[in-house]
Amino acid sequence: MSPPQSALSPARWIDFHCHLDLYPNHRELIAQCDAYGIATVAVTTTPKAWPRNREIAAGSKHVRVALGLHPQLVTERAHEIDEFEKHLPESRYVGEVGLDGGPRYFRSLPRQREIFGHVLTLCASQGEKILTVHSVRAVKDVLDMIEKYSAHGRGRVVLHWFTGTTAQARRATDIGCYFSINGRMLDKPANRALVQSLPLERLLTETDGPFVTIGGRPAEPKDVARTVAKLASLRSLGEPEMAQQLLQNLRSLVSLPQGQSI
Ligand code: MN
Repeated sequence: MSPPQSALSPARWIDFHCHLDLYPNHRELIAQCDAYGIATVAVTTTPKAWPRNREIAAGSKHVRVALGLHPQLVTERAHEIDEFEKHLPESRYVGEVGLDGGPRYFRSLPRQREIFGHVLTLCASQGEKILTVHSVRAVKDVLDMIEKYSAHGRGRVVLHWFTGTTAQARRATDIGCYFSINGRMLDKPANRALVQSLPLERLLTETDGPFVTIGGRPAEPKDVARTVAKLASLRSLGEPEMAQQLLQNLRSLVSLPQGQSI
């Protein structure tokens, strides 16, 4: 890995989904993102976490905080949807939101659908939001809901840790979704095949740290470098070309002309 760049360097890598506030060294990691030039979306799991996250990341060049209400927390936190609504005008990025139909959470799916539906409606009415969306064992539902939302054409969706079928990936692509890929996903041959089938111009990278670990320690934003390398070899590109492609994808996602800070 090359040495850190100055704090004012342009982004060179992307961590589009990292729970920075769940690490004991939250501030250090923000400094790491700025030092290495890692355009990072700091996702949150409850709207109550928003004000403090925002305050801590306020001086950062490369970290953007996302306002979230995690589907796994809907049972206990659904009432915080009012806080979500209150803070939404302050945030361009939204996440972590979505649905989880896994064994521990499927019972709350009806409530999760209500909350996610409300989140999508609010985002559609305010416009220009960029969402990072969880879809574990609920891909069809999530895509159905996003399709309705995307019909408004005023927001963008990134599917985080997507593990649907190739047909579902094609459907997601057709409705305009991007995909953020983490290193853990690429450990499984089936996921590698899926990622290989995704359009190059819709790929982003993420860590989903601290939930994803590397050699027993939580993944950190700078670990996306490994994912860029894996993606490059998977798609038969050089690492610099893959890194450039990912940055270009991020620019189109956030619709910024080249050279401007993300
Ligand atoms: Mn996550």
